[in-house]
Amino acid sequence: MKVDQQLLKNEVNQRRTFAIISHPDAGKTTITEQMLKLGGAIRQAGTVKGRKTGKFATSDWMEVEKQRGISVTSSVMHFNYEDKHVNILDTPGHEDFSEDTYRTLMAVDSGVMVVDTANGIEAQTEKLFKVCRMRGIPIFTFMNKLDRDGREPIDLVEELEEVLEIDAYPMNWPIGTGRSLIGVYDIYHNRIEFNDPDEWNNGETYLPLNEQGEIEGEHRLKEDRLYEQVLEEVELLKIAGNEFSKEAIAAGELTPVFFGSALTGFGVESFLKTFLGFAPEPSTTIDQEELAVEPTDENFSGFIFKIQANMDPKHRDRIAFVRICSGQFEPGMSVTLSRTDRDFRLNNSTQFMAEDREIVKHAVAGDIIGLYDTGNFQIGDTIYEGKDQVTFKELPQFTPEIFMKVEPKNVMKQKSYHKGIQQLVQEGAIQLYKTYHTEEYILGAVGQLQFEVFEHRMNKEYNSEVVMKPLGNKIARWINPDQLDENMSSNRSLLAKDRYDQPVILFESDFALRWFSDKYPEVELYSLL
Ligand code: GDP
Repeated sequence: MKVDQQLLKNEVNQRRTFAIISHPDAGKTTITEQMLKLGGAIRQAGTVKGRKTGKFATSDWMEVEKQRGISVTSSVMHFNYEDKHVNILDTPGHEDFSEDTYRTLMAVDSGVMVVDTANGIEAQTEKLFKVCRMRGIPIFTFMNKLDRDGREPIDLVEELEEVLEIDAYPMNWPIGTGRSLIGVYDIYHNRIEFNDPDEWNNGETYLPLNEQGEIEGEHRLKEDRLYEQVLEEVELLKIAGNEFSKEAIAAGELTPVFFGSALTGFGVESFLKTFLGFAPEPSTTIDQEELAVEPTDENFSGFIFKIQANMDPKHRDRIAFVRICSGQFEPGMSVTLSRTDRDFRLNNSTQFMAEDREIVKHAVAGDIIGLYDTGNFQIGDTIYEGKDQVTFKELPQFTPEIFMKVEPKNVMKQKSYHKGIQQLVQEGAIQLYKTYHTEEYILGAVGQLQFEVFEHRMNKEYNSEVVMKPLGNKIARWINPDQLDENMSSNRSLLAKDRYDQPVILFESDFALRWFSDKYPEVELYSLL
């Protein structure tokens, strides 16, 4: 395709593609809405809200799918803010938590971590953070719910550093919390931002500070004890805290921390502005041959990080989500699927935006497009334009945490059963394990929803009813085959093999894992991500 290089470069440089990671209820939906509102993409906060899965019981999943048309209507949201084209990728939590949630993080250039100031770092945040960390992408922290009394700011920052093993740099610092919230001391911009500007600052949101970081001249705030307190705290942070470093932020080694309230919107705009200033534009992708694919390369390339089935219950249609790594997409363009070497014409592409699905006419590196798929694509596939083959690196596998034994209901229908399992496993919908000797099938997943999708699709797409028996939560650890001794298998440590026949032990609990390590200190155990 003929590409205007300068135009492409300009467009790519405007892209900011990120995901919000958090534990359920920390405020991800609320802050997303505030951002969409600031970008003018929705008029009213509350639009994304009603669609959220958290409201539904897992068993309602199919109904929910129907109501929502597809659960990915809010998978990718985009809006323009100042001169930036922003793409927010949803990382489903609650019952929707699945490997796709992790894989989504492979398709973003930065992450925003939303933390509830009453709860600090929670389990799901930690899991998602690890994936961002592994990728070395910048992570920005929003300490949410400042309108309520939460934990001490210093505790929260210390905990963040300790639990996540990342340095933190407070960009602002609360002046009061909950009912006594006056605002924040904005360390980075050397100003005060008021929660209620009418009450405190003649309607002006910001009050600039002098070179010493203090209010110049008369001001009501100077008489408040919280002012003295915040000056002391900020002084302490400056002496004892980490140095600000753009490079460390870019390398994902230092997370800038912002306090605010997604619900009231306090601090969200200054967060968004500052965050977008630091968030990186799409960067180079290294392919399997260790060659650099630049976002501004003329030829289109991208990889599939998520496949969403059940678009329409009557069809087998699915949507494959593609992160564009280079060049630009135009409808009707021809690409090659690297795995099969087959050529395709990309006719129907859909990009999602809160409620409406729109047909995409133009997208560039950094953007996400959704392609209708009738079963051609697998997770991790590369598609590219031009003669030079591009194959991106495989996406990582994630250690499953929940397991089920599975069998066909009707033993006469083995063929469709095996075909279905094989395809769904290849597609990345679920992971397959077998008991070591008896070769009974065990399915592994990171979230319950994956099993339900599996069961439903086996039934609908492969006409195979399955019987599933929960094995519960397990800690999966891989073991070097040379160190394997079959006596290691017990009730508490089930010996299995993965789909590549590598031995894995499924431990019943942390206790069982520790017991094993004590008994076999020489045996090395590995986990996936
Ligand atoms: P998600 O599960 O992370 O998407 O969380 P939501 O955005 O749905 O928020 C969970 C609950 O916390 C909802 O009842 C929100 O109204 C509430 N919430 C979110 N942000 C704030 C905040 O800044 N302050 C207060 N007080 N509540 C908030």
